[in-house]
Amino acid sequence: MRKPIIAGNWKLNKNPKETAEFVAGIKGKLADAAKVEAVIGAPAVNLQTLLDAAKGTDLKVASENSYFEDAGAFTGETSPKVLAEMGVNYGIIGHSERREYFHETDEDINKKAHALFKNGVTPIICCGETLETRKAGKVDEWVSGQIKAALKGLSAAQVATAVLAYEPIWAIGTGETATPEQAQEVCHLIRETVAGLYDQTTAENVRIQYGGSMKPANVKELMAQPDIDGGLVGGASLQPESFLELVHYQD
Ligand code: 13P
Repeated sequence: MRKPIIAGNWKLNKNPKETAEFVAGIKGKLADAAKVEAVIGAPAVNLQTLLDAAKGTDLKVASENSYFEDAGAFTGETSPKVLAEMGVNYGIIGHSERREYFHETDEDINKKAHALFKNGVTPIICCGETLETRKAGKVDEWVSGQIKAALKGLSAAQVATAVLAYEPIWAIGTGETATPEQAQEVCHLIRETVAGLYDQTTAENVRIQYGGSMKPANVKELMAQPDIDGGLVGGASLQPESFLELVHYQD
């Protein structure tokens, strides 16, 4: 059985002090870790604070981006090796904001996935279409293309442990959520794509998140969909109260 995974993506928000305050606000209040995994993805400058504050809790920690080289003359980048040494559990890669504003390509994202796995950090690999692509009826082709490119050269054993996040760009930060049916349709397509690339077992094991204006008011119906195993949450992950409501969606 796939364990549900609710992950916050703070994007470029919070400083170390606010990070520690957030963790103090959720301490002792997380849902049963046997029923749901709770993760916070924070900016690199806050990761050590987040790790320290999360010690002794079931909260897992994610980076929001990392490079595909471990070390060297790459000014400004974040080493996946150091993330692993620090104890970071997950690495978000390929977020649409990274693709759009920082010109990341499918090939970069594939290299980043390999680098994270090599270091023992589990990637959360994002994909998703623009409104234009949706209107043109090309969602399937676009999303399966992104998934195929991101997973290139990874083993079935690796992919079975990975997390794939479907985030329709038109639903990010807009308050406009994909309907549960729309989200399910694409998450199912992603699972079928993995089955085609690997096998049914790998497809049944890989966890697929939905992201895009997920909030306490819609988390239940999204999580009720058979191919949605979690959420990647921006705005609603910033306050302890709403993050807790999300991780407690089963209660
Ligand atoms: P919002 O939840 O703010 O729409 O952001 C979604 C997202 O981009 C998470 O990675």
